[in-house]
Amino acid sequence: MKRRSLGPMEAHSETHSIEYEGIEIEYQLIRKDVKYINLRVNKYSQVVVSAAKRVPFSVIEEFVQSKALWIITHLAEVEKLRHAQPSGMLHDGKTVYYLGKPLTLTLAQGSPQITRTETSVHMVTRQIHPQELRSEYLEWLRKEAETVFPKILEQIYPLVKELEVPYPSIQIRNMRSIWGSCTVEGASIRLNLQLMKAAPECIEQVVLHELLHFCQPDHSKKFYRLMEERMPDWKARKELLETEFKDGI
Ligand SMILES: [Zn+2]
Repeated sequence: MKRRSLGPMEAHSETHSIEYEGIEIEYQLIRKDVKYINLRVNKYSQVVVSAAKRVPFSVIEEFVQSKALWIITHLAEVEKLRHAQPSGMLHDGKTVYYLGKPLTLTLAQGSPQITRTETSVHMVTRQIHPQELRSEYLEWLRKEAETVFPKILEQIYPLVKELEVPYPSIQIRNMRSIWGSCTVEGASIRLNLQLMKAAPECIEQVVLHELLHFCQPDHSKKFYRLMEERMPDWKARKELLETEFKDGI
């Protein structure tokens, strides 16, 4: 895709281009009440030239030509900045993960609603700022987690029933560094909202891990033996969780 076309068009602008050592440089020309000619590169990597009405076009062209090297250098810097942006920004066409599946996010403006299909997540929103989009998305994901996590707990609990582990309540938190934790006294486990992006077998591994802490609080040999007996492939599941399903949101 041509990146330069992604930015909004300035009002009443004309598109022109010059050539510099074989490179075509496109620019938007705006006639307005400026002293003479201004040239800038905006954050969308668009070259914008403002010129007073009285300045002949040939002069403008010559001016842009004389700035060609500066423009090329500057465009490269803007591109670098763009790539340095955190990948967590929600945008139309972004790949997001939902229970291990990569889905395409589509954005539209309107009355807020998020719907999911086999291949996409369609987000209708009034927000335009990336940060607010993100919290709206995470709020939706949390609601989904409120159904998904209890179901997984229900499936995994029978594996620890004989160990007299209490049936815990679930708390959901969006956390940076841990997948889960447990409070033995409170009979509750805390699960990272980010787990919603992982395949169910990875979530099962975390749930079993936390459940086993109710009878074995440390990470001793005994703990891992209990784990191994109940889920022989837990390591592969953990490995998958650590390496896959990251979408930065
Ligand atoms: Zn642990």
